[in-house]
Amino acid sequence: MRSVAVFVMCALAVTGSRHGPADSFDGSLRSLVLGALAARRTDDANAPADPDGPMTIDWLAGRLLSAIKADRSALAHMHARESLLSIAPNGTLLDEADGNGNEVALPPSFDAPLQRPDAAIVLVHNHPRGNGLSGADLGQLAKPGVAGIIAVGHDSSLYAAAAGPAYHPNVFETDTYPLAMRETLRRLRTETAGTHVEAGAVEAQVEHVVAQSLNKARVIRYRAELGASRSDSYRRLQVVFGHVSEGVAVAVTRAPGSRIRPPGSPPAVWD
Ligand SMILES: [Zn+2]
Repeated sequence: MRSVAVFVMCALAVTGSRHGPADSFDGSLRSLVLGALAARRTDDANAPADPDGPMTIDWLAGRLLSAIKADRSALAHMHARESLLSIAPNGTLLDEADGNGNEVALPPSFDAPLQRPDAAIVLVHNHPRGNGLSGADLGQLAKPGVAGIIAVGHDSSLYAAAAGPAYHPNVFETDTYPLAMRETLRRLRTETAGTHVEAGAVEAQVEHVVAQSLNKARVIRYRAELGASRSDSYRRLQVVFGHVSEGVAVAVTRAPGSRIRPPGSPPAVWD
């Protein structure tokens, strides 16, 4: 396990009270997440059968999506800095870290619980620009205590990922993700050569396409719902993105060391 996996280095402060539900959305990620978690205690068709049972990433992603859809205009006014929250399986907010407009660093106190096997923590953060999960984001899944990671885009996009059976913590950030990114960029260039596709329209979707490829290769389990304008932009190139992610998934699957781990093997141990 790498000693430090950070979103990026920058100054940060752990802020705010960690207790008490938010009464309403106040522009912070914290209030959005606490509102979604509070729904767990209500009569909710999407809630786990056992309300005191483990909160899953799928459930939390679904609740956040409902909250986003209920108030898209509020989300557009979210604070323009990144925040990162860690949520325990019982649905309580464990910790919070604030970053700047592009990045959040993890202080040791935030990171320590993520290293505990079976902690089953879900990380939730926001992406002011609305782009997909980065390599550093997906690299958090290498930590034995991380069950999943979610990014909420200020354009109403939502991205959620958990480690899949072919996720290898020791090589994900050094080999797997760089290979997937390299292959994605190469194939996108080839597929759009000679066309009038705007580079920006492709660039805005790159992280999402890489994550789709990794999902097809079973490296991650991935779910995404794009905001309206991002979704329109994606649809215009949907066929290209589909070809590219299929090809990249094959390349990732064929790479040395990409074999699927046997069922039951611990997520953070490989070979
Ligand atoms: Zn991120």
